[in-house]
Amino acid sequence: MPTSREAERLLDRLEQRYPDAKCALVHDSAWQLLIATILSAQCTDKRVNQVTVTLFRELPTAVEMATACQAVVENLIHSTGFYRNKAKHLIGCAQAVLYQHAGEVPASLKELIALPGVGRKTANVVLGNVFDIPGMVVDTHVKRLSRRFGWTKKSDPVQIEKELSLLLPPQRWTQCGHTLIEHGRACCKAPTPNCSQCPVVEFCPRIGVDKSR
Ligand code: SF4
Repeated sequence: MPTSREAERLLDRLEQRYPDAKCALVHDSAWQLLIATILSAQCTDKRVNQVTVTLFRELPTAVEMATACQAVVENLIHSTGFYRNKAKHLIGCAQAVLYQHAGEVPASLKELIALPGVGRKTANVVLGNVFDIPGMVVDTHVKRLSRRFGWTKKSDPVQIEKELSLLLPPQRWTQCGHTLIEHGRACCKAPTPNCSQCPVVEFCPRIGVDKSR
């Protein structure tokens, strides 16, 4: 297991390589980012950004979403996959935001994860990108890369979040997520990483150690 200092050195190098890494989901408000992140489960950000153009035009606020017919929402988000469950979550989430939080997206992890369809990943995306509250997002890229870096041996995203939160200072959590996602898409891909082109190859314990991670 690397020390915090070693982990930060690797992260420094990656942040130099990806200085513009940021949230890829197009949004203008906490509400829009919350909805877009729920839709991004098992779906590409590109597809979500296409779908939300129409979705936010037809149902712009929590009021419209909370009172929308499930079939209408399903139709609007169909191409993101798992559309029945997602539609249920969007309507339930809108109702909770409207009736329990006076129409405002709450700014705490505890309140966010109590909303229908909102897990820790979605909550941390919203906290870090809208409220400037550090959030360690663990998606498929962050999970894969942090295991390859030797930052964790865990498989459960909640456990990984906990370990990364201890390894890195809070002020780096949000950008760490963006940077690892960018590196995961560009170079450290699944299932085969492009190690010969990697800007952090000298920091990576995976080389010559365990090729299965
Ligand atoms: S050396 Fe390979 S496995 Fe390690 S971070 Fe770079 S691309 Fe990923």
